[in-house]
Amino acid sequence: MTSQPHCDSEVTTGERTIVVADVLGYCWGVRRALAIVRAAAREKPVAALGDIIHNPVAVDELTRDGIVPVRDANAARALGYERVAITAHGAPPERYEECEALGLQVVDTTCPLVTKVQRLAQRLVLQGYFVVVYGDAAHPEVRGVLGWAGTTRACAAKRLEDLPWRGPRGAVDDAPPRKVALLAQTTKRTEDFLAFAEQLARWVLPHAGEFRIVNTICQPTWERQEALMRLADEVDTVLVIGGRKSSNTARLVETARSRGVRSFLIERADDITDDLVQGSRRVGITAGASTPDSVILDVIARLVAFGFQPPSRLWREENPDTLEFAE
Ligand code: SF4
Repeated sequence: MTSQPHCDSEVTTGERTIVVADVLGYCWGVRRALAIVRAAAREKPVAALGDIIHNPVAVDELTRDGIVPVRDANAARALGYERVAITAHGAPPERYEECEALGLQVVDTTCPLVTKVQRLAQRLVLQGYFVVVYGDAAHPEVRGVLGWAGTTRACAAKRLEDLPWRGPRGAVDDAPPRKVALLAQTTKRTEDFLAFAEQLARWVLPHAGEFRIVNTICQPTWERQEALMRLADEVDTVLVIGGRKSSNTARLVETARSRGVRSFLIERADDITDDLVQGSRRVGITAGASTPDSVILDVIARLVAFGFQPPSRLWREENPDTLEFAE
C-alpha cells in the first residue's frame, strides 16, 4: 500500500473509473487483534469468544488458521480448549472471571481504544455521573463498556426514549439525574452522536444538571467516514465492502447515502452483479474497519472484469503514532 494521505486514487483515462477512498479497510485495532491471536494460535489452539472481528471472510480465514469462534467460555472448555481469545470489541470483567474460574488462559485482543472507553466509563461512575453510551445495547463493545462501568447508573441509548428516566409524564418532562456523562460506541457516526448529544443536553441542562460529553468515536472510524465523504462527492456509486454484522460498515453505508450517492453494501466480490454497476461511470470503493485487504483487492479485480479501469493508487494504513491511547 502507498502513503498518499488525503489523495483519492483514480484513473482518468478510459470510460469507467474506479476511485478508492484514501483510508479504508482494516483499522489499526483490527490488524493488532489479528496479529495477537494468530501469534497465540501458533503456540496452542485458541477458541475465540465470538467473532474476533465482524467479517465473515476474515472469520473463515481465522477458522482455517485454527482460531475457531465459540459461544462462550463453557463451550470452549467443553471442546477441550485451554486458551480463549477476547475479541477486539472487549468484554465485561465477568467474562475474564469466568475464564479464570474455568482454568482458561485469556488471549486479550481488546483494542486499546476500547479499553480507554471502558476505563473512562468506570472513572465517570466513580465521579458520580450517570453514564450514557450512545450505541447499540446488544453490541459486544457496548456490553463490555457497561460491564466495566459496573453499575445500574449506566446504560446504552440511541434515542431519548431508550433512557431509563421516564416517569408518568413521559420522557422529556421528567427530571434526569443531576450529573450525566455521554460517551459513544467507538464506531458510531459523528453526526448522529452530535445530534443525540444536543437532544440530551436540552433535557439534562434545564434541570440545573451537569452534562459532560466525551467523543469516544475512535479516530480510525472518523477518518473512514471523512474519507468516504470526500469520495462520495466524486463518484456516482459507492460500494461499501464489509460484513453485514459490522457496525462501522453499516455506518459507512449511511454516510454515503446521507451524501445522496447511490451506495451498496457488499460482503465479497461475487456480490457485484452487472445490474449493480450498470450505468455507473465512476464507482467509489470504501470498506469497513474489519474488511480484509484481500477482499478489497478482489472487488477491484471484479470491477476491472466489468470493464472499469484499475486504480493507479491504493490506500494508506494507519500510523499508530497518531492515535491517542491515554484514558
Ligand atoms: S474500529 Fe476503532 S476501536 Fe474498533 S478496533 Fe478499530 S481502532 Fe479499535
